[in-house]
Amino acid sequence: MGIGAGASPGSGGGSALALVPTMGALHEGHRSLIRLARERAAHVAVSIFVNPLQFGPTEDFSRYPRTFDADLEVCEAEGVSVVFAPSAEDMYLPDRQVGVSAGGMGAVVEGEFRPGHLDGVLTVVLKLFNLVQPDVAVFGQKDAQQLAVIRRMVADLNLPVSIVGGPTVREPDGLALSSRNRYLSPDDRVTALALSRALTAGAGRRAPAEIRRAALAVLEAEPSLALDYLVLVDPATFAEVGDGHAGEAILAVAARVGSTRLIDNVTLDIR
Ligand code: AMP
Repeated sequence: MGIGAGASPGSGGGSALALVPTMGALHEGHRSLIRLARERAAHVAVSIFVNPLQFGPTEDFSRYPRTFDADLEVCEAEGVSVVFAPSAEDMYLPDRQVGVSAGGMGAVVEGEFRPGHLDGVLTVVLKLFNLVQPDVAVFGQKDAQQLAVIRRMVADLNLPVSIVGGPTVREPDGLALSSRNRYLSPDDRVTALALSRALTAGAGRRAPAEIRRAALAVLEAEPSLALDYLVLVDPATFAEVGDGHAGEAILAVAARVGSTRLIDNVTLDIR
């Protein structure tokens, strides 16, 4: 199903098409990606699909926020040309067999806590690329490992799509915008600020061990936060960086606050 939502072309060149894949419940982070897409291409398509394949059996698939009418308004206001909002039945054959594997990169960090998640992401992203045939696809750095495995898929499978990463949009107090933030109670929201505070504390240090220690100290001071991981990793492979590491690294955190699981990260330049 394709739904037209306004058709004013973006400022980007030629007849290029940019795709912004989302699960809906659109917020300022998604809007920033749409704006980036408009800079890169004449037309922007937004997909809205809560992909069952990327949720584990105990995760929040059924209660994931679905705000389709409001999402269409956002797309219209941002000059999106096409909204692609398939149903699960449109996307997956009941006897589907073949999917994409994220390989070793899909088994570490986020993949250790969400087995199969990144395979589910890559499978739907490849399907969206085949269905929409974009020249450019825009993803948020907020989901840094997702962005890394998508780049890897494009390289390994020779996909004719340029991948663009967009910076993480935050609330004024540092909380990274997320569709899941609406689950947070007022107390949870205060607790959740420890994630961005930890990343800022880590970013203020120089050596990998100090970076990890400073960030961990902030997280450990927050008793109502259940830490899944805090890692300092190579941006391309998501392998932990060693003490002698020089160059870019991603400090990434995942934690549960109440019943809500949050992730955040920051890119550091270690010299
Ligand atoms: P989602 O709807 O959560 O699957 O996210 C759709 C896209 O928006 C993904 O590429 C995310 O990385 C990106 N995204 C989510 N939150 C943010 C944010 N706070 N800032 C920028 N991009 C984001």
